[in-house]
Amino acid sequence: MEMRICLLAGDGIGPEIMEQGVRVLETVAGKFGHDMEFTDALIGGAAIDKTGDPLPQETVEACKAAHAVLLGAVGGPRWDNLTGAERPEAGLLGIRKALGLFANLRPAKLFPELASACFLRPDIVANGIDVMVVRELTGGIYFGTPAGEETRDGLRTAFNTMVYNEEEVRRIARVAFEAARKRSGRVCSVDKANVLAVSRLWREIVTATHADEFPDVELSHMYVDNAAMQLVRDPSQFDVIVTGNLFGDILSDEASVITGSIGMLPSASLGAGGPGLFEPIHGSAPDIAGQNKANPLATILSTAMMLRHSFGLEKEAEAVEGAVQQVLKAGYRTGDIMDQGGTLVGCNTMGNLVNERI
Ligand code: NAD
Repeated sequence: MEMRICLLAGDGIGPEIMEQGVRVLETVAGKFGHDMEFTDALIGGAAIDKTGDPLPQETVEACKAAHAVLLGAVGGPRWDNLTGAERPEAGLLGIRKALGLFANLRPAKLFPELASACFLRPDIVANGIDVMVVRELTGGIYFGTPAGEETRDGLRTAFNTMVYNEEEVRRIARVAFEAARKRSGRVCSVDKANVLAVSRLWREIVTATHADEFPDVELSHMYVDNAAMQLVRDPSQFDVIVTGNLFGDILSDEASVITGSIGMLPSASLGAGGPGLFEPIHGSAPDIAGQNKANPLATILSTAMMLRHSFGLEKEAEAVEGAVQQVLKAGYRTGDIMDQGGTLVGCNTMGNLVNERI
């Protein structure tokens, strides 16, 4: 299979973790006989320094010409005095928009080896945590109109509109059902259908899409307030959670933070047909940049998501995830996940250890 992958290393620890991600992809290509071609492009602060723009047009074109995009992280104190569209983060929002990425997939998985980092009680953790939050990314209350501020009855009054049409719900539901088929086959759709008209349409469309196209997947529904509670009470009950932009923003952060290991968590953003974007959920960690201390595992696990979701290479994805698990089992740790009895290693060595086990 021919794979063109665009690399956006970005800032801070971005280049270090990217290097390890690319080495893993190269190892997979060699072992499984795939033809991978890499191009580099600028984003964030690195792009501002060279071109004055956090998302140069050449970067957008390079991404669009690729089958998948791997991103490190953007931002840092050097560019903190910039505002709005000039900031490094504007590059990130811009590329998501340019690629039409409407679905954000965030797995929150607790590796049993890192259970001591988890914020939940050991008896809850014992049941395991392996949740995938599928969040709608381009609609809902963050983008709905009308939105703004005006004076009503002499009082400053602000308003936003939560809006979804049936097609927006259908396409995110399909992403969630497809994802569930590659996991343990259960989807929980989260809404607020007891209060919101948008949620009632959401629930109706998810239910119909399930009946028409994915009867083999198990579907349940849950109100968002209950879902927030159940995630900390018993996260093991969830496989895939699908929800709108606002609820997904909150629940995906909640799900990931309970695992306690920001350096371990990958993500994928998918669009309709074009390239997907794969990135760790953490930022550019300027405090440890350039010191060979960064944990590359979130980026390496993002390459596994790329292999699975952009290229349909399940065996290859599992080989990467299995290698990560073996390294953790053998006791190797970067500083952020270091525990008693662990062997401290740097970013480079962690990458080597994973590569050796693929
Ligand atoms: P951060 O995620 O960069 O760092 C938070 C803490 O976690 C730091 O102590 C950092 O050292 C640690 N950490 C993060 N990733 C790590 C890794 N892979 N290995 C080891 N330790 C790791 O968040 P922040 O400090 O709030 O933000 C720093 C910069 O990153 C800011 O400019 C922010 O805007 C940007 N940011 C970018 C993204 C992105 O590119 N997607 C996301 C969040 C923040």
